[in-house]
Amino acid sequence: MGTRLVMTMLADLTLDELKAYCQNIGLPNFRASQIYDAIYSGKSLSEVTNLSKEIKSLIENDYPKYKIAKTLISTDGTRKYIIEFSDGQVCESVLMKYKYGNTICVSTQIGCRMGCKFCASTLKGLLRNLSAGEILGQVLLINRDLGGSIKARQITNIVLMGSGEPLDNYDNVIKFLQLVSYEKGLDISQRNISLSTCGLVDKILMLANEKLNITLTISLHAPNDEIRKSTMPIANRYTIEEVLYACKKYIEATTRRVAIEYTLIKGVNDSRVAANQLAKLLKGMLCHVNLIPLNQVKERSLTGSSRGEAETFKKWLEEEGISVTIRRTMGQDISGACGQLRNDYLGGKL
Ligand code: SAH
Repeated sequence: MGTRLVMTMLADLTLDELKAYCQNIGLPNFRASQIYDAIYSGKSLSEVTNLSKEIKSLIENDYPKYKIAKTLISTDGTRKYIIEFSDGQVCESVLMKYKYGNTICVSTQIGCRMGCKFCASTLKGLLRNLSAGEILGQVLLINRDLGGSIKARQITNIVLMGSGEPLDNYDNVIKFLQLVSYEKGLDISQRNISLSTCGLVDKILMLANEKLNITLTISLHAPNDEIRKSTMPIANRYTIEEVLYACKKYIEATTRRVAIEYTLIKGVNDSRVAANQLAKLLKGMLCHVNLIPLNQVKERSLTGSSRGEAETFKKWLEEEGISVTIRRTMGQDISGACGQLRNDYLGGKL
């Protein structure tokens, strides 16, 4: 039994990697399976009953220490969680209940460095990336909170739409996608997973080559580069044309329909001209537009379009043959969405 110098967070590992880890510390394969089950049950090490004190002390440093620090439950069933990691950093995760199942929205970074003007997650920049196991941990903890287990999973869908830019944390996110869809683990179908990005073109092209079955969601939010530059700094790096080119490559590689997110901001991107420009950009592309009512961020001066304006914008797109829906807002009574919960938590307001 050698001394291990490098710390390994066990939730970061595949089952095979966990077996190799166990072998390294002199434990047989069946112990790896027990440890794997323990991790995937969402239990802390002290709650695990089928491992001896000796084994626990061997893996203690490496066993996941993330936990739910706070839960808010909305009248519509939405649950918002503050998840705390071993270094004390926190992120938020959201559970939404739909007729077809439970969707969880996970964070991929603590903070974000993309700087979108309407988003609360990016107000203080990027603190750090989450590891694959820390992204997975959000799913495991919430599954357990819902009374689920590895065999009776309570989560059907995942959206990578919490704080952070998933493609800015590429390797950890790809590993997370592999871990969470592994058939001996949670076995969540990749078809039920959506990855949302503000449009890192080089990474979208890489993603197309990963041969994953996930849905790519693009945060477009503007009908032309000029408006996009005024709300999204990433638009200074990539043009809309380049983003949509990468989408087309993704569609070619996966034959999957791409989702386009478009947050309606009053007087910025909700005019008739904007609708026509957007329709022209998307015409003929295998995509669906989600119109999102803006969640007001108190630190920002932007205002969302009204429900009526959103309906009108939707009608304009439909007239041009674009497939479009207005996203339902959920859990509004338990703090605004999009990074605001974490800010409230850190500000001592929860
Ligand atoms: N960084 C990724 C994923 C995180 S946010 C991305 O940009 O796609 C998930 C979605 O919520 C994105 O479409 C984002 O633009 C949007 N969003 C952020 N702040 C918002 C707000 N205040 N109101 C409505 N949507 C918001």
